[in-house]
Amino acid sequence: MTIKEPRDTIVLGSGFSSLSAACYLAKDGHKVTLIEKNPSYGGRARQLKKQGFTFDMGPTFYWMPDVFDSFFKDFGVHTSDFYQLKKLNPAYQIYFGEKKSISIPDTLEETCRLFENIEPGSGIKLENFISRAKQNYHLAIDNLVYNPGENLGEIITWETIQKLGLFVSTIRSQVHRDFTNPWLRTTLEFPILFLGSTPAHTPAFYNFMNYADLGLGTWYPEGGMYSVVEAMVKLADSLGVKLLNSTEATHLEIHDKKVISVKTNQGKISSDLVVSGADYAHTEKLLPPAHRQYSEKYWSTRKFAPSALMYYVGFDKKLTGVSHHTLFFDTNFETHAESIYQTKEWPEEPLFYASFPSLSDSSVAPENHEAGIFLIPIAPGISDPESIRNQYFEKIMNRLEKVTGQSLSSHILFWESYSVSDFEKDYHAYQGNAYGLANTLLQTHILRPKMRSRKLKNLFFTGQLTVPGPGVPPSIISGKIVSQLISKEYERTF
Ligand SMILES: Cc1cc2nc3c(=O)[nH]c(=O)nc-3n(C[C@H](O)[C@H](O)[C@H](O)COP(=O)(O)OP(=O)(O)OC[C@H]3O[C@@H](n4cnc5c(N)ncnc54)[C@H](O)[C@@H]3O)c2cc1C
Repeated sequence: MTIKEPRDTIVLGSGFSSLSAACYLAKDGHKVTLIEKNPSYGGRARQLKKQGFTFDMGPTFYWMPDVFDSFFKDFGVHTSDFYQLKKLNPAYQIYFGEKKSISIPDTLEETCRLFENIEPGSGIKLENFISRAKQNYHLAIDNLVYNPGENLGEIITWETIQKLGLFVSTIRSQVHRDFTNPWLRTTLEFPILFLGSTPAHTPAFYNFMNYADLGLGTWYPEGGMYSVVEAMVKLADSLGVKLLNSTEATHLEIHDKKVISVKTNQGKISSDLVVSGADYAHTEKLLPPAHRQYSEKYWSTRKFAPSALMYYVGFDKKLTGVSHHTLFFDTNFETHAESIYQTKEWPEEPLFYASFPSLSDSSVAPENHEAGIFLIPIAPGISDPESIRNQYFEKIMNRLEKVTGQSLSSHILFWESYSVSDFEKDYHAYQGNAYGLANTLLQTHILRPKMRSRKLKNLFFTGQLTVPGPGVPPSIISGKIVSQLISKEYERTF
């Protein structure tokens, strides 16, 4: 698109949504300045380097490679111009008890065979299940997720009307109808956790996540997920985006229903247009109260996706019995979920996830060493003192040793933790949320916080708290949608 007059545009934050929006807006001809409060870019996908180890601090699963490819293609470049992708095999491993695990292969055919061996008859059921999930995936990508959530008309088509039933039944009921083995049920329910809710509360339509998992596969960008951040920063720079780190927005100045400047800790920057990819509730707090759209009551009654207690661990040996992505589902899922969504307490026997990227990438740990990233999903807003972090570290290291049958305590070179209060401090995350707002039926599309401010003509929002939802691919898509919304708005009003 050619615009009549470039606009001075400020993008807040440097997460995937902000980087994506900045690239599209710069391509459209706007003069874009991106400001990030932290010294490094990438938002929740920052990197930690210590003693020769490299850890992705946030996302580790590279799913939906088509979304990344389509983003780079929009700028006439290819994903492979920036980083190399490897398909992981196994995609991931799930532990259900001591030395009891299944490893999910890298093709659907192999996975069907695995299912068939565990539960006779389930191989063909899986094939059919994924074939339906694939249809939903294409429907979602082609008709639903690239919409700004302004009105229902965007998503009502003959095809979506036919799928209405899938919005009233749940993933749980669908999976339990077709599969009886608890391991297989868990395997099919696991991808739903990426949406920030539980399978019993997520519409069956979202089984497109199963196609993203078992149909499209699990990939790894060499160097880790941070390679994607570096790629997007490089692209933004090449498009003329001015990137300012260690620059925190402290106040948005208003005149005549417009944001006229952004005050930062480094000085004031004038603006014709502001797009915020910083957490939504925080951005609104930068405005005088009369210009905010959502009250504290609104935010406190939303269903947030979990927060997390993370550990970044350097081991002085190679581990056995684990895969690049390993899930420890050897305790009760329902009890853990209750602690996140109902009681909002620390789970007694947590499920946890671990990533050992050094199994696939020798650049992220010294030779014969292992880099471990551990994640326990927890309720947002709970207190996370050092004593708790120490206690849970011991708990999960003991579990890791017991379940995989190896001794590790004397092989830990160091560990660092990251949790609720860090998310609050580092990203201004509401209640220290990790993944933003859950994608439940009542928090989908028009029911999510709006991309366009109803009160200020030139203020827009992007990122995991608005449409389409949490996750790296949705955040990249969110940046594209907001830029398209602005293009339309520009044609009409500027
Ligand atoms: C631990 C963890 C694991 C995850 N795992 C996966 C995974 O495996 N796969 C996947 O697809 N997704 C995963 N996700 C989700 C995914 O990482 C997020 O949905 C996505 O990165 C969010 O991007 P964003 O642009 O919305 O926000 P953010 O990444 O949060 O970016 C917002 C930015 O705004 C900045 N900011 C805030 N306030 C200001 C201010 N006043 N001034 C300037 N800057 C400001 C913040 O510092 C931050 O950099 C994970 C998330 C977490 C936290």
